[in-house]
Amino acid sequence: MTERKIFCNFAVEKQNAGKKIRMKVKKFGGTSVGSAERIRNVGKLIAGCRKDIVVLSAMSGTTNSLLEISGAVEKGDRKRASELIETLQAKYSDTIAGLYQTEKYKAKATKTIDGIFNELRALTDKDFSVALEKEIVAKGEIMSTNLMNLHLHELGINSVLIPALEIVRIDMHGEPDEAFISKEAKKALDAMADADLYITQGFICRNEKGEIDNLQRGGSDYTASLLGALLGADEIEIWTDIDGMHNNDPRFVEGTTPVHNLHFEEAAELAYFGAKILHPTCILPAREHNVPVRLLNTMDPSAEGTLIENRLEKNAIKAVAAKDNITAIKIKSGRMLLAYGFLKKVFEIFEKYETSIDMITTSEVGVSLTIDNEKNLPRIEAELSQLGTVTIDRDMVIVCVVGDLEWTNKGFEAAALEALRNVPVRMISYGGSNYNISFLIRKEDKVKALRLLSYHLF
Ligand code: ADP
Ligand code: ASP
Ligand code: MG
Repeated sequence: MTERKIFCNFAVEKQNAGKKIRMKVKKFGGTSVGSAERIRNVGKLIAGCRKDIVVLSAMSGTTNSLLEISGAVEKGDRKRASELIETLQAKYSDTIAGLYQTEKYKAKATKTIDGIFNELRALTDKDFSVALEKEIVAKGEIMSTNLMNLHLHELGINSVLIPALEIVRIDMHGEPDEAFISKEAKKALDAMADADLYITQGFICRNEKGEIDNLQRGGSDYTASLLGALLGADEIEIWTDIDGMHNNDPRFVEGTTPVHNLHFEEAAELAYFGAKILHPTCILPAREHNVPVRLLNTMDPSAEGTLIENRLEKNAIKAVAAKDNITAIKIKSGRMLLAYGFLKKVFEIFEKYETSIDMITTSEVGVSLTIDNEKNLPRIEAELSQLGTVTIDRDMVIVCVVGDLEWTNKGFEAAALEALRNVPVRMISYGGSNYNISFLIRKEDKVKALRLLSYHLF
C-alpha cells in the first residue's frame, strides 16, 4: 500500500538494546473516528506504523452526548439520562455492526461496549458532582480506543491499549504533570515492548487527587503533544477533517487556504486565539521540546497539510483567528499618573482570583485588559473598584493576525489596521511578541472583521 509508505515510519526498526526507538505520535480527532467507515479508514492509515503511539478522541458527537447525560443527572432527570444513554448505545451498536467482519470480533466489541454502558448507567444513579461529570465524559475516549484496538486485532495487528488514566496526570492547577507523564508513559511502553502499535485515549487524565479529569474540550491534541514531546517523538501528527491550518476560520470565511509552514510561536498564537483546529495550549510542549507538529487531513491523506516547527518564514502574514467570549475591563484612576506600583496592585487581584489576562493596554490615566473567564469577575470588580473607576464591556472578540510581525518590518500592522478601518476597535495589542497583532472588537463585528482581513491581507 503506497499510502502507508508515505505516512509511516518504515525507517523505524527496533534498534540495538538501549538505543532510542524512533516513533511518531498520531492523533485522530472525533470526525476521523466518527463512524465505522472512518475508523476503518484510520485503521488503514496506521496499520503499518510500527512503534507509533496513536491518540484517539471520542467519536464525534459522543462527548457532547455524555455532557448532556451528565446535565440530565445534574437536573435530577434520570429518565432523560436513561433515554440519552439508550440513543447513544444504539449508535455504538450500529458502529460495531458496520466495523467488524467476523462474529467473533462483533461479540468481543459488543461485550466491551456494553460493559462501558453498564458503568455509565451506574454512574448516572449517583448524585451529581463535577467529578462525576468528568467520569461520565471520559467514557467517550475509552469507547473509541477500545473499538479501534479490536479493529486492529481483527486485522491481525499486534496493537495494545495503554490507558491514559494511568499515564496522564494534571496537578492542582490543572497543568500537566510532565515528570509523571514522562515516567509513567515510558514505563507503560517498556512493559509492552513487543507490541507493534500503541493506542491511547486523548483528553482524559487523572488529577492530583487521583480522580478522573480531563484536559478541557479539544484536549486530545494536548495529550498527543505532551506524549510526543515527553517521549521524544520524531513528529506529532494531528489528523483532522481539514487539510491543515487555514489562513482564516473556514467556518466564517469563504475561500480560505491552507498555510503549509508555521513557526511554533505562530501556531501557538493561532491556537490560543481561537483557531479551533488546535487546542489552545497544545503547541507548548512540542515547542519546548522542539518536536515538529504536522496537521493532516484524514479525508485527504496525501494533502500537504501544515508543518509547525522552529522555522520562521520571513516577511509574511500567515493567518487570522478569533477568540470569542472576551470581557474587557477598564480601570481608570487619577492616581495612576506617575504612580509606580499601580499595575502591580491590578495584577495581584487577577492572580488572587486565578484569572489570566489576554490583552492589556495602558495610558496615563488607566489600564484596559481582557479576560476570557468571568467566574470570579464580581469579586475582581469589587477589588478593582478600590483602585479606580471600573468599566466592563462584555461579548467582545479578540481578532488576532499572526505572522512575522517583528517590529522593524514595515507596513504589516498598518495593513491590518487599514483592513479594519470600518470596524470599531476597542483595544489594540502589538509588540508583545514578534508574531501577532490583536484587536478587540464587538462580537457582532467578528465575521465582518475576519472577512475584511482575509480580503485585504491574503
Ligand atoms: P478534531 O475533532 O479532529 O479535533 P476540530 O473540530 O477540533 O477537529 O478541528 C477542526 C476544525 O477546526 C475544522 O473542521 C475547522 O472548521 C475548524 N477551524 C477553525 N479555524 C481553523 C483554521 N484556521 N484552520 C483550519 N481549521 C479551522
Ligand atoms: N472528545 C473531547 C472533546 O470533544 C476531546 C477532543 O475531541 O479532543 O472535546
Ligand atoms: Mg479538536
